[in-house]
Amino acid sequence: MSAPTPSIGIIGSGFGALGTAVELLEAGYEDVRLWERADALGGVWRDNTYPGAGCDVPSPLYSFSFAVNRRWSRRYARQPEILAYLERVADEYALRRRIRFGHEVVAAAWDADAGEWEVRFASGDTDRVTVLISAVGQLSDPVMPSIPGIGDFTGTQFHSAQWDHSVDLAGKRVASIGSGASAVQYVPRVADVASRVVMFQRTPNHIIPKPDGPLPRPWARTMMGPERLGTWLLSEQFARGLTPGTLMAKFIDRLARMNLHRAIEDPELRRKLTPTYPIGCKRILFSNEFYPTLAKDHVDVVTDSIERITPTGVRTVDGTEHEVDVIVHGTGFASQDFLSSIEVVGEGGTRLADVWEDGAHAYLGMYVPGFPNLFVSYGPNTNLGGGSIIYMLEAQARHMRQVLDRMGAGRWTRVQVRPDAERRFDEDLQAQLQDSVWARCDNWYTHPSGRITSNWPGATKPFERATRDLVAEDFAWT
Ligand code: NAP
Repeated sequence: MSAPTPSIGIIGSGFGALGTAVELLEAGYEDVRLWERADALGGVWRDNTYPGAGCDVPSPLYSFSFAVNRRWSRRYARQPEILAYLERVADEYALRRRIRFGHEVVAAAWDADAGEWEVRFASGDTDRVTVLISAVGQLSDPVMPSIPGIGDFTGTQFHSAQWDHSVDLAGKRVASIGSGASAVQYVPRVADVASRVVMFQRTPNHIIPKPDGPLPRPWARTMMGPERLGTWLLSEQFARGLTPGTLMAKFIDRLARMNLHRAIEDPELRRKLTPTYPIGCKRILFSNEFYPTLAKDHVDVVTDSIERITPTGVRTVDGTEHEVDVIVHGTGFASQDFLSSIEVVGEGGTRLADVWEDGAHAYLGMYVPGFPNLFVSYGPNTNLGGGSIIYMLEAQARHMRQVLDRMGAGRWTRVQVRPDAERRFDEDLQAQLQDSVWARCDNWYTHPSGRITSNWPGATKPFERATRDLVAEDFAWT
């Protein structure tokens, strides 16, 4: 008699969720369902539609290994093309019929007697599965800044990840609060049409040229394989540039400084845009257009702190009123929350939010002691400073599949990581991270407690190696 196949529920429908679903379906797991809070699939690539939205990972790396995209039109793909790719994957692997749209998971509780997770949706409905996989991402919940007076503004305001395309920016005065990865992409497009742009910058970023350009069709069709390998090898080297003092770090730093000097002549503006922390501590950004845009007459960079938002604009601490018609909040995401928009309760009523109070941690970024049959895709310490997250997601999915296979083979109904194995893994990881460049400035990788909870230290290959073979003794099988 064969083992009963587990029911598997996946939260989300972005890269992590779709990749994991394909891995499990291809391995023969049949009862795989996905819950998506929106009415369309795609995760961040569905939500971030701001003008200029695109990926700063080279497109040869930005597709699944099981569905290498040989149709990318450019070296750095833009959002519509990436979303179209994800939709194509969903169609090719018949995933759509498995996705329950409009199902926002708000709670998940382990039912020890039944050996199941009970999942509750915002509607109040529930569902039950043997194995619960979270694939909600690290950057899925936009954060509006808590600036006094934000509710008083009488113009239009929105977050960059909730772009209001009904607002015509032509001839308008537009403020951008934030100057990060999203702003670097939308500010040039906004400046193309707006009469005035004021970018409020709290901290400058290192920005290097983006080697972008079209990928001719025949080239993409035939050369994507070799390009993928070459780009991967290069990006593994780039990841080394995140180790302070290396030749690579010095090279990237020089590149960023040259990029700034070439585009910005005004010494005062140059000074404002020069980072004073080591390169790589915040995400290194890629753009050929950002600096030239900031040098334009109708674009201002304001570095004075914001005091409040007024009915007609933004007031800085020096008393200046910057009157604008539209405010774009490019202020990023609740990166430290991980699963906390969902009330996850494991064995003995333990809340995941409590376990992660001082910053999230998980064995291989996927497994937390006390939370049987819960797997986390793109969990703690699996984000990258350089390289393609898709590679990480696939390594995780393969590991989850191994855990499921072993469960089935042993006719075990529940599995969880052993606390000592998780602790060992985490201590080792945190020791490596303590000396990393990310410990040297404020960034979204770091929990207020000081733990670096987002990033994997270094290149992607060691993660793939760490996840390749399941270490069965690190888990308790019941
Ligand atoms: P972000 O990198 O977190 O940038 C947020 C910006 O808002 C920063 O400049 C931050 O300043 C500023 N900010 C936040 N709160 C503020 C406040 N209360 N007052 C004033 N300024 C405030 O967010 P993001 O640009 O949306 O990007 C997030 C991540 O998404 C990226 O790092 C990247 O991983 C991903 N992403 C990727 C791409 C791509 O592939 N091209 C594009 C967009 C996003 P501080 O720096 O001082 O905190």
